[in-house]
Amino acid sequence: MMKQLKPITCRVDELISVNKFNVDEANAHIELADDLAKLPAEEFGKLIRVCPAGLYREDEDGSRTFDYAGCLECGTCRIACGDTIVSKWEQPGPTMGVQYRFG
Ligand code: SF4
Repeated sequence: MMKQLKPITCRVDELISVNKFNVDEANAHIELADDLAKLPAEEFGKLIRVCPAGLYREDEDGSRTFDYAGCLECGTCRIACGDTIVSKWEQPGPTMGVQYRFG
């Protein structure tokens, strides 16, 4: 008989809350192709689902927000929508962006 594995759960927001960010206010390393309200719902919905930091959001009233300040630089949004609505994705400059902390 196979041993049942115990389910493992973790809260990503708790794990990433210890990271530090040095945000480059003068140069957004991610830009979207149009005003948030004009972006196709299907494509923006992909970003909402895939971003581990939850930076792409849509409220119940349909208003959308995106803020690159908490970006984990994983590149998932670029892979998901780099050929549609993510018009710019670059690594932040030296000393900028996320500094991962563990523990
Ligand atoms: S690179 Fe990763 S963390 Fe940053 S906005 Fe894209 S999906 Fe979110």
